[in-house]
Amino acid sequence: MLADKDRIFTNLYGMHDRSLAGAQKRGHWDGTGDLVKKGRDWIIDTMKASGLRGRGGAGFPTGLKWSFMPKESDGRPSYLVVNADESEPGTCKDREIMRHDPHTLIEGCLIASFAMNANTCYIYLRGEYIREREALQAAIDEAYDAGLLGKNAAGSGWDFDLFLHHGAGAYICGEETALLESLEGKKGMPRMKPPFPAGAGLYGCPTTVNNVESIAVVPTILRRGAEWFAGFGRPNNAGTKVFAISGHVNNPCVVEEAMSIPFDELIERHCGGIRGGWDNLKAVIPGGSSVPCLPGHVMRKDAIMDFDWLREQRSGLGTAAVIVMDNSTDIIKAIWRLAAFYKHESCGQCTPCREGTGWMMRVMDRLVKGEAEVEEIDMLLDVTRQVEGHTICALGDAAAWPIQGLIRHFRDEIEDRIKAKRTGRVSAVAAE
Ligand code: SF4
Repeated sequence: MLADKDRIFTNLYGMHDRSLAGAQKRGHWDGTGDLVKKGRDWIIDTMKASGLRGRGGAGFPTGLKWSFMPKESDGRPSYLVVNADESEPGTCKDREIMRHDPHTLIEGCLIASFAMNANTCYIYLRGEYIREREALQAAIDEAYDAGLLGKNAAGSGWDFDLFLHHGAGAYICGEETALLESLEGKKGMPRMKPPFPAGAGLYGCPTTVNNVESIAVVPTILRRGAEWFAGFGRPNNAGTKVFAISGHVNNPCVVEEAMSIPFDELIERHCGGIRGGWDNLKAVIPGGSSVPCLPGHVMRKDAIMDFDWLREQRSGLGTAAVIVMDNSTDIIKAIWRLAAFYKHESCGQCTPCREGTGWMMRVMDRLVKGEAEVEEIDMLLDVTRQVEGHTICALGDAAAWPIQGLIRHFRDEIEDRIKAKRTGRVSAVAAE
């Protein structure tokens, strides 16, 4: 279990003072200028050595991503953009950081921007996060007043401006290039890649887009050392991680824990166990709504919450937003709900996604009621494969994977419902 002394986010629950004075008392903004003065190479090397992988879902190594940014400017400015769009169903971890521990993020923005030669950083905030915007903006104002942002930020010798931009509430704006389009004042539609943002991002300039948590952990890693951070979790899965557990546990919560924590320990220690006990566990979506669900028996014993173990199970850690479902769940309907979400959020730019998400949702609609042929299950699976990997952005994959997980693990249940509908056996048919 992660000891309190090793927690990066010491005010995740908002029990303490979130103001600058409170944050400083808890050790934030301590020697920030000196960290910056150690130079770009030292910062990027330390981040690489820490083993931090992006916390926004894809898990790409953060230090490596930063190293793609040009060291010397060709006349264009560089930008850091923080992705605070957090719109994935089930995911609510960055929200706690921004409203209760905002200075971890602001300090991280300064250091990370310096490391990437950026004098300007934008935080792109989810449209629905009103209170979070207020808390974050108040913290930014405080930091400006204290000389921690602006000219010679925190005595570092680096001039740095930080802007908070409030989105309008579209899920697709969490995709990094759609986010950049939206920030530029256009419709939030993903761009084709290449060029990648590090070459031509915001306003055509070199840009790195990072998740809130990835940036907020940076100052503590630099202060305590790469080895300290790398000491948590299995190799290739380093660090502490903020988990957000929702659904059928006794005490849903957001908690910072060591990476690679066993699933049962996470649930027992922080969530008071599964509702109705472990035998009542039906399925778990381990990383936000876009990753395939796993059946209860896989998660019950020896399940490890990290990138590699979950990938081996053909699922993923994603954002570490864990959605727990007990036996009372109509799993077909639950996945239908996600299919409806992705259909609604498709930007419509590419045909497999625009048409496929609607198609998949309509078949799911019938599977929920059992009004389908058994052969249609394979047809649906086939369509998910035609959408997956054939679209401009990852929304196509995100729409396909939950359905693939459902068919992989709960095909019996789908078939049973179709047969039940035919024979009038109501117990297996979903409630309307
Ligand atoms: Fe838009 Fe979907 Fe294509 Fe992404 S995959 S660009 S959301 S149509």
